[in-house]
Amino acid sequence: MDPIEKRIYETKGGTRWVSEAKKAGLHFYNQPVEEINGKYVTFKGHRMLNFASYNYLDLLKHPKIEAAALEAMRRYGTGTHGVRILSGTLPLHENLEQTIADFYGTESAAVFPSGYAANLATISALVGRGDIVICDKYDHASILDGCLLSQARLMRFHHNDMKSLESQLKRADTRVGRLVITDAVFSMDGDIINLPKVRQLCRKYGAYLMIDEAHSLGALGATGHGIEEHFGLNNAIDIKMGTLSKAIPSMGGYVAGSQELTSYLKHAARSFVFSAPLSPVLTAAAQASFEILQAEPERVTKLQHNASVLRNSTKSLFNTLNTQTPVVPIICGEDETAYRMVKLCQEENIYVLPVVSPAVPEGLARLRVTVTAAHSEEDISHLMTVLEQAGKAVGLIG
Ligand code: PMP
Repeated sequence: MDPIEKRIYETKGGTRWVSEAKKAGLHFYNQPVEEINGKYVTFKGHRMLNFASYNYLDLLKHPKIEAAALEAMRRYGTGTHGVRILSGTLPLHENLEQTIADFYGTESAAVFPSGYAANLATISALVGRGDIVICDKYDHASILDGCLLSQARLMRFHHNDMKSLESQLKRADTRVGRLVITDAVFSMDGDIINLPKVRQLCRKYGAYLMIDEAHSLGALGATGHGIEEHFGLNNAIDIKMGTLSKAIPSMGGYVAGSQELTSYLKHAARSFVFSAPLSPVLTAAAQASFEILQAEPERVTKLQHNASVLRNSTKSLFNTLNTQTPVVPIICGEDETAYRMVKLCQEENIYVLPVVSPAVPEGLARLRVTVTAAHSEEDISHLMTVLEQAGKAVGLIG
């Protein structure tokens, strides 16, 4: 078989795999959710409690965000008419960048078409052939892809293991650019990088530090300002990257840092220069979301409370790794076990989804349960009843 055909038909995710999973009633990917309303989704005609959402602060469909989006559409239309560097920059983009910079206490920020694009473009603009990037083994795919695109030498350290990071920093040639990049909150495990130690090591060895705040914005720190607030640090991070598609219910990515950094990225980072910017609608929605996040810190408190209830309830029954956030992995082991768990939960109108390799290591397939500010303690206790029944039915728990 032709190697390309083989990929399309034979590999995991290929058409044969998809059709076999469908036949067994165990295919859960790319399926449309018909309606989203607070903590509920309508899926295949059933209203289900949603525990598979990034809508951490329950801001999706907030009337003020929708009003801001509509107003922007009326004023500017649905799209931009050029790339940012030529005619596509609107005052809305500049306002949003200023808001993000103020939010993080940095000089400046740059907004990109997506979080994925932000990582790709930023990393490949900052390092190149001959330089070194040092990443946590569990960093998000967009970080890895940015590193590969940059052609810098990729060194990885064991997950959240500071001895391993130090040994990589010791081995790295000090005459070349050295950039350490890690997630703040690991998106599949829910644990938090040891930022105080990472920062100390970066300073000791003179390396730049970039942190991906995709799952920490709105979720970490008493007022949702992210990982620095969580650890009580200031100016610990040279390059703060994040996304506008999770706690902020819009789309886009951003980098916050010094004026020089963002000015350089706005002229040299390829997805900023060569890809259309956020539409006026998405930009205004993101702007309004930041305003509400800051005006209503009780959303963060509720999210953190729910996350702690969920973690405490699940960890006595299941292996939930070292989660410290609203992302709670329920480790199932084999893919099939995760799929069967999901099927049983969905039959009880609990909307959860499976994550399997290559997104997570082989043998560590899981349900990736997320809680939001929209849930109540009763919702979590109902989830627990269903998880426990399902876990017993598939033999995951006794
Ligand atoms: N970084 C992390 C840690 C993520 O979880 C994600 C999204 N899954 C991204 C980057 C990419 O963000 P976006 O969806 O905005 O492209």
